[in-house]
Amino acid sequence: MSASDPSVNQARRAWIKRLGLVTTPGLLSACAGNVLRPAETRAAPRVIVVGGGFGGAIAAKYLKMFDPQLQVTMIEPNPMFTTSPFSNTVLVGLKSIQDITFDYQQLSQRYGVQHIQDSVVEIDPVHKRLRTASGLPLEFDKLVVSPGVDFRFDTLEGYSKALSEHQMPHAWKAGPQTLLLKRQLEAMPDGGVVAICPPVGPFRCPPAPVERVSLIAHYLKQHKPRSKVLYIDAKRGFPEQEIIKRRWDSLYKGMIETVQGGDGIIDEVIAHADGTSTLVTGFEEHHVQVANLIPPHKAGLIAATSDLTDESGWCPVNQHTFESTRHKDIHIVGDACIAGEMPKSGFSANNQAKMCAAAIVAGLRGEQVPTGSWINTCYSLLSPDEAISISRVYKLSADNKIVGVHNSSGTCPINLQASREKEAVYARGWYDSITSDMFT
Ligand code: FAD
Repeated sequence: MSASDPSVNQARRAWIKRLGLVTTPGLLSACAGNVLRPAETRAAPRVIVVGGGFGGAIAAKYLKMFDPQLQVTMIEPNPMFTTSPFSNTVLVGLKSIQDITFDYQQLSQRYGVQHIQDSVVEIDPVHKRLRTASGLPLEFDKLVVSPGVDFRFDTLEGYSKALSEHQMPHAWKAGPQTLLLKRQLEAMPDGGVVAICPPVGPFRCPPAPVERVSLIAHYLKQHKPRSKVLYIDAKRGFPEQEIIKRRWDSLYKGMIETVQGGDGIIDEVIAHADGTSTLVTGFEEHHVQVANLIPPHKAGLIAATSDLTDESGWCPVNQHTFESTRHKDIHIVGDACIAGEMPKSGFSANNQAKMCAAAIVAGLRGEQVPTGSWINTCYSLLSPDEAISISRVYKLSADNKIVGVHNSSGTCPINLQASREKEAVYARGWYDSITSDMFT
């Protein structure tokens, strides 16, 4: 039989369908022409996944789907996962926190992933073992690490982790800080100022600050129309800035003020006893009622303490297999890894985790690793009823780097109202399908 034999192709399609890959475009292309075969009889390798977010949950599920014989253990401290995507809608009461929170039951019951509710505090990459916070020692054959990001709290005078937890929430990991920021918005008097300050450097979901500005302005327009959003950003611009600013003008006239570039470099923050804050730049002191300060990012702490990061604070990986270039048999996916030109997003993490799972299974079987192809779309709601999206397709270059495919990137026809309205529908559809991919 040859690959062009219709019966082989039929069997291949049936097998892909059984694995459910028809719903996962990133992986479909990853596997094209290189379908993984079900495992033959052999001792079950132990694969541990650290983190149960966009990268970890998908890596764990797809490892089991590609090879049900594997022993897959996912270590995640939380019993439920709250998604950062759509957390901006929670801030302004369009969704509840429960709406964006999911449990891991299906991952265990349907796919056979063992979930240990614990944190990994130490990884010994040389002896291939790790230790959890409760003292559990575990050994692995392969490890997937997807701990997301941590914050560089020490980069700004006057700011600290403690301050972020009670007065100046970043709310850049959905959960308690999302609810804190929501309460602050609700408690703010009409006429108050909400500052939103995104970080410099690589950070998760670059279009999300624009979405946050838009939705908070929408909320203020409904409930506190004399209030303002102050967007302070040391960067000179954001994608599609001119069009978005025109949209802000028409949706939220006079309610959004931007301070960008050199004027937007915050040197110091001062927290006042009455809950208000002062943000000091080289040019001005901004006194605000609510300060949403999002500090610069780095890879999740466990990556740094396990010698998986380089001087940039992120994890270098072989961008084909996502294996660490520092330690063999340890793979890093999601926000923590350096994935060429891909942005740090849940969509990227999902694609990377599937490719990583395919690479691990192929490697364990001594087969060729399938060729990767990835996609990312970031949606950003400008109001509850309209959104914009930015997409790009990625491939592996000859020197093993993830690069954007020429002419594959673009935004939706952002100037058209009908198109923006459709994008809001697509954004919700994207969210439903990615969370269903993760948790059902
Ligand atoms: P996470 O999803 O954060 O998962 C990391 C997990 O690891 C966590 O559950 C954590 O508890 C666990 N963990 C950490 N350390 C340990 C340890 N030591 N032991 C065990 N477990 C550990 N992306 C999109 O694609 N589309 C969007 O519309 C979008 N909107 C966003 C909106 C906002 C406001 C924000 C902040 C982000 C948004 N993102 C969006 C980005 C997206 O949330 C991240 O890119 C994505 O979560 C990255 O996945 P990850 O697996 O790397 O990390």
